[in-house]
Amino acid sequence: MLEMPVDIETLRLIELLLGVSVFALMYLGTYRISRAPYAGWWSGAMIAAGLGLFLHVVGDPGGSVVAAGGSALRVLGASCTWGAARSLHGKGTPWWYLIPAPLVIGGFTLAEQNDGIVYEDGFAQILGTGFFMTLTAWTLWRLLQGRALGRGVGSLHTARVAVTAVAVSSTLLAAFYAVRVLIHLADGTESTLYRIWLGPEAAVIGVIMWFAVIIYSVAELSNLENTLQWRERATRDELTGLLTRGAFTELAVERLVHEGGRGRRLMLIVADFDHFKRLNDTHGHAEGDRALRAFGAACRGLLREEDLAGRLGGEEFGLLLRAAHVDVAVSVCERVAAAVEREYGDEAITAPTMSFGVIVAEAGVPFDALLARADGALYRAKEEGRDRIVVDSLEA
Ligand code: GH3
Ligand code: MG
Ligand code: MG
Repeated sequence: MLEMPVDIETLRLIELLLGVSVFALMYLGTYRISRAPYAGWWSGAMIAAGLGLFLHVVGDPGGSVVAAGGSALRVLGASCTWGAARSLHGKGTPWWYLIPAPLVIGGFTLAEQNDGIVYEDGFAQILGTGFFMTLTAWTLWRLLQGRALGRGVGSLHTARVAVTAVAVSSTLLAAFYAVRVLIHLADGTESTLYRIWLGPEAAVIGVIMWFAVIIYSVAELSNLENTLQWRERATRDELTGLLTRGAFTELAVERLVHEGGRGRRLMLIVADFDHFKRLNDTHGHAEGDRALRAFGAACRGLLREEDLAGRLGGEEFGLLLRAAHVDVAVSVCERVAAAVEREYGDEAITAPTMSFGVIVAEAGVPFDALLARADGALYRAKEEGRDRIVVDSLEA
């Protein structure tokens, strides 16, 4: 009968040694420095699967309990790959999600032992591993369908390639395990087909090839997570949680081209606290900061996905709303001002009031010019006595 030209013991040893090196690279090289969850999950997968494999390699001394423990750990390793895929969606995976499957698989492996000890690739283990490979592949394909990894250039594009590579290889591995499960059920493990193409040797070769893709993807995606974290820090104002001036301007220009081109109306608002210096001087800088934070929270609560809010500097803010009519913008100004007032409730401190300048942001007009017009409206609000909303005379 035809056999695989390599013996399983050698292959297992190679898999084990390679697994240890992959773990060392991921844990020491990436996770310990970046703390990227994706690298953490893969490190966990390598430890669990590696220990399971070790138990299977050592084998005999512990008998069937060792075989069952080995299977449980290897399925736990497979389930960590699912955790890794979920982490790319920004989802955590509680540890207890990972407990039932290995327990069940370990139990089944014990039950399988009546024909002699099955050290590896028993039916239960194949089923469990195949199940989590399928979940991993499915989670990654869903990520690729969504908008999180846009088809842009730069780091996001590289990340897309890395996720696609893991999705394709996980799908192939999942399909391989599915076929193994089916042939196992239909034909048993003695058929030539199973022994040559679907046996433990073929599985080890598949996993070794998979390692190469995983090393590449962990490096790329952990890098991306860091880039996104830095980008977030650079574009968010820390005190208010709103966009920084630069990010607001960049996104606003983009929206004006996109939305304006589709004939949608946008409203630009410039908001400024009244006598803010007095609030600082009378009650201290911390009280001033509190008002700024309240404004940020109000905007984040009130505005929709399609609106933008940024801190233009000091106690001055810009809002760009998608709205058909200035009335909507006026109502947003009123509600934001009311939220700031509520922050102070019935305390001894008089809540700071705000002045607003509102304009319709026509497409085709440079953003600087729009901002200057909105500023003009704000200036009038100040001149007319503050605590009010002035809509640019062109629309009034
Ligand atoms: P007006 O009604 O004309 O807008 O008067 P104003 O006092 O609000 O305006 P002015 O521009 O004179 O003062 C703005 C003040 O905002 C001065 C500055 O110290 C304060 N400020 C700027 N950034 C911050 C901040 O991050 N925290 C606090 N607490 N105050 C800030
Ligand atoms: Mg002010
Ligand atoms: Mg100001």
